[in-house]
Amino acid sequence: MAYKNYPMVSRVIFGRGSFNQLGDILEPMRLNEKAPFIFLVDDVFKGNSWLTSRIPLAYKDEIIYISADEEPKTSQVDELVEQLILSHNDRPSGIIGIGGGTILDLAKAVAIMLTNEGLAKDYQGWDLVKFPAIYHVGIPTISGTGSEVSRTTVLTGPEKKLGINSDFTPFDQVILDPELTKDVPTNQWFYTGMDCFIHCVESLNGTYLNAFSKTYGEKAYELCKEIFLENNLSEKESQDKLMMASWHGGMSIAYSQVGVAHAMSYGLSYLLGTKHGIGNCIVFDHLSEFYPEDVKLFKDMKAKHKIDLPQNICRDLDDNEFNIMIDIALSLEPLWENALGKQWKQKISREKLISLYKKM
Ligand code: NAD
Ligand code: ZN
Repeated sequence: MAYKNYPMVSRVIFGRGSFNQLGDILEPMRLNEKAPFIFLVDDVFKGNSWLTSRIPLAYKDEIIYISADEEPKTSQVDELVEQLILSHNDRPSGIIGIGGGTILDLAKAVAIMLTNEGLAKDYQGWDLVKFPAIYHVGIPTISGTGSEVSRTTVLTGPEKKLGINSDFTPFDQVILDPELTKDVPTNQWFYTGMDCFIHCVESLNGTYLNAFSKTYGEKAYELCKEIFLENNLSEKESQDKLMMASWHGGMSIAYSQVGVAHAMSYGLSYLLGTKHGIGNCIVFDHLSEFYPEDVKLFKDMKAKHKIDLPQNICRDLDDNEFNIMIDIALSLEPLWENALGKQWKQKISREKLISLYKKM
């Protein structure tokens, strides 16, 4: 097909307190009393009754708390799937992810792997998933990644960090309740928020840009500028707007691609375990030759919110390690093609990437 035919999230609720409707939303989706709903919840909420007391548990439903200290791995998905198969006779009625990009991506991947044979690593790539996932719901508690709306679930596998991109990946239901983001620490708010800003910059400056992506990207870009550079928003307005910016930023890259910052950040993440949001910030800070105006804005935002980024994280790396990062970064061909055009191989060299990484 010349034009891609993208699936979208089929149902979405937006509003402060909308999380209270979770029980009503799930009830009609329960297959039977033995088929549980499995709630994958960021363990930052363990013991937080404000949130957990509102998770509607019945019959054999189960909450599994998961740490977001590390980004999701294919092996972690396989273990969770095995755990669910062993502990329940019936296939779950649904998987509900409550957390940031890490937990949302895990929820999507587990829902896929419950109906598809083999290991999660076998499905990293594009359109390798054969059977529809089980019903899955995404409830973001931090805004920026766009994982709530995207067609991918980014996983680190034994050989690569790559998404399971498929028509079965997007959530069947998303609950956007900005109130859930109220306790996000400032640094993390900035890193994940900047993921959204960088999605917009890379989409709007890419060669894949089209009116579909542009309209979403421009809206999210404007919202980010308002949230991170102006002083006129209340905390609640800021939370509401960042949640919608994340959504629009995600929609913008759905029909285009990200670019240099993401490609290089994947390298950092693969080798050093640097998390996505902060990794993007560390890289983007040094990309003024690719995105001059927006790197300037980024530095203003960083100063305004007194964010200190880690420095010299590549200082002690040897040639072999630089090569690993560069191999990962350059393997993401669509990202480079989007950023630099069809002739991208003539515009970027390994030497250039080493010199950039050495500054980080
Ligand atoms: P995250 O999920 O890793 O969470 C970051 C930190 O914030 C964690 O410590 C978490 O416990 C904490 N946190 C989350 N919600 C909180 C709350 N309400 N209060 C207090 N603390 C809270 O962060 P992220 O930036 O949302 O996600 C990063 C992940 O998203 C990466 O794995 C990345 O690969 C993935 N990602 C996926 C897509 C996609 O389209 N699927 C796009 C971009 C990024
Ligand atoms: Zn991103």
